[in-house]
Amino acid sequence: MILEKNIVKRQHYIPETLLGNFVNSDKKLIEVLLHSKKIYPTSPGNSMCETFVYEHDTLKKNTIENYFAKIDSEIGQAIKDTIGQIEELKKGNININTIREVVENLLPIFIIFYYRSGALLTEFSSINKDEKIPLLSNKILNHVYINALSKTIRNCYNFSIIESDNNFLLSDQFMSTASLDVKTQFFDISNRHIGLKETLILIPISSKYYITYWHSNKSFIVEENTITKLKPEEVKNINQTIINNSYVKCVSSQKEAIEDVLDEYEMEYPSQIYAGGNPSGYFCGAIKKKEVFFHKEDKEAFKLFTWMIFKPYEKLGRNDICACGSNKKFKKCHQDIYNKVKIIIDSFQKNKRDRGDNYGIPGAMAYELPVDHWQGFDKNK
Ligand SMILES: [Zn+2]
Repeated sequence: MILEKNIVKRQHYIPETLLGNFVNSDKKLIEVLLHSKKIYPTSPGNSMCETFVYEHDTLKKNTIENYFAKIDSEIGQAIKDTIGQIEELKKGNININTIREVVENLLPIFIIFYYRSGALLTEFSSINKDEKIPLLSNKILNHVYINALSKTIRNCYNFSIIESDNNFLLSDQFMSTASLDVKTQFFDISNRHIGLKETLILIPISSKYYITYWHSNKSFIVEENTITKLKPEEVKNINQTIINNSYVKCVSSQKEAIEDVLDEYEMEYPSQIYAGGNPSGYFCGAIKKKEVFFHKEDKEAFKLFTWMIFKPYEKLGRNDICACGSNKKFKKCHQDIYNKVKIIIDSFQKNKRDRGDNYGIPGAMAYELPVDHWQGFDKNK
């Protein structure tokens, strides 16, 4: 068998048909380049595409490319149909469960796009190019894993549809995820990995509609099995999550929607963590995704913990002046946030063998895998 190597192809990593659902009345998309904060108009044909090197020795020619071409056409039509059904739902002609069923049948394809998205370009950027494509294809061609992850979302998460005035953003990661509560600091995964308790999943449909799946013991901004028109501050909270899921770019139909949350964007790449190494050359480590928290206080608690700046709060009483310098009483300022930090510290002190028992959703068929992890011996030593 003759295998062709390194066939370069310019391809959309977010389907062009989906980008078409985010255009303004001039059929333009407003795009932001996150590292320079540059905002400019573009078109669905020119946005979210990249030169991919899809071919690899170990893959039969065109395997991935043909596969993507097939699901691209499938998803475009399916999302258009879903928008039509949402309009029917609003008129009272159909039941929300009809839409839920359609979306749940599409979940495997949504998850494939999640892996094939801009994440490919960034999460795997520290990995040798030759290893990048097999690593991606191992994930997206692994039907057992994709189906188990879909079943986890279907069986363990609440479903709802959220609506805005055409001002939802779209991330280059395709789906967006966030943690709804700070759990702990993991070595190889983030607090927002699918399958963990207190997580939110956002699936883009158009600038007007998103599908939300969430797992939480607390109340969320919407009720299960409903379509809800969000208030402006709730839209902002969702958009803050979407922009922080983006690696390089984010698009919208409205410039203001981007400007509204641009200051909330934190530049933070997936980090490589080396967990161990000894003189004989043994090493192990992982690539970890950025943490994204839906609630501001969780984000702050996680920072206090990971930056190790919680000491000044340790001995404060409820009525003492807060250590942050706000001049407010502790109870009216950082006490709730510090209490969350204490939960993280406790999670390290408890000697629980199976952390899955603590943080995984009971009954989950699969957890989202780490970007990558490795262990072995360094041949150079
Ligand atoms: Zn404070």
